[in-house]
Amino acid sequence: MLKSDEIERALVVTAHPDDVDFGAAGTVANLTDAGVEVTYCLVTDGQAGGFDETISRPRMAAIRREEQTKAAAEVGVTELVFLGLMDGEVEFGLELRHAISRVIRQVRPQVVITQSPTINITSVYGSHADHVATGEATWAAVYPDARNPFAFPELLTSGYEPWAADEIWIMFGAGHPGETAVTVDITDNLERKIQALRCHASQHREPDALETRVRAWFREIATEGGLDEGRSAERFVVVDAR
Ligand SMILES: [Zn+2]
Repeated sequence: MLKSDEIERALVVTAHPDDVDFGAAGTVANLTDAGVEVTYCLVTDGQAGGFDETISRPRMAAIRREEQTKAAAEVGVTELVFLGLMDGEVEFGLELRHAISRVIRQVRPQVVITQSPTINITSVYGSHADHVATGEATWAAVYPDARNPFAFPELLTSGYEPWAADEIWIMFGAGHPGETAVTVDITDNLERKIQALRCHASQHREPDALETRVRAWFREIATEGGLDEGRSAERFVVVDAR
């Protein structure tokens, strides 16, 4: 895993508002504290989320963009790109690969953080079809699309030069037997991660219960990763893309 002083820019690509805050906000805060520029790319607006049927879906999209923008600011991120797809309708394919490739060529990140490109058969919630499609399209955008000048040639003629990211970090890992994950200590930024999660107010009926659950969850990841008692951590599978 590249160290923060080896990273100038990082890009996080996720399906829904709040995915990054569950999976990586503590690590993102560590990066921005170290001076790394981090950009978020949101594939959908999360219109199918929440529980309030009186809120129209276009209104929900606007609410969720606003919530994600506030959550990003909590961890030092001010650059957000919204692709605006419909929540629940993300499909792996050339259109999404093209859109993510354009963002990679714009941002020029050393590290791309995203979701698992394969279903984790131990986690139904973690393997939402939108997540898997987003992870797979991002994988293809890192290699070969964004770095190959002959892929989507109109990107090059529009001024988006090819770009090769060095690493992909898969949030939570992919759940494959025997996979090696990297444990990132986020204890110093845990409160900011919690605040970021709380920004997604439209999604939480009981924010205090969520907080309790989240604190236990990230302490458990730290313990599994061999960190000392009382530490909190996020976990990534790191893929060398060089
Ligand atoms: Zn999601």
